[in-house]
Amino acid sequence: MRILLLIAAIVGVFMIVRTLLRSQGNKSAEKPERIKEQGAVVRCAHCGVHVPQFEAYRSGKRMYCSRDHALADHSSKNDD
Ligand SMILES: [Zn+2]
Repeated sequence: MRILLLIAAIVGVFMIVRTLLRSQGNKSAEKPERIKEQGAVVRCAHCGVHVPQFEAYRSGKRMYCSRDHALADHSSKNDD
């Protein structure tokens, strides 16, 4: 009974290592595409943080990381 468990464990470890090696090869190929999918990154006009365009808030020509920063920037300086 012990030997069966040992064999099962060895086979299990072997399969896990094989799966990990395979997924590692796939991951390195996937990475560049992932960044592409996220699209453009914009800079918050208030705090300078970079956020994906689809998450950014727009106020006029300027982009912001959050609604709070859009309102804060709008109330602090009204030029442009
Ligand atoms: Zn911000």
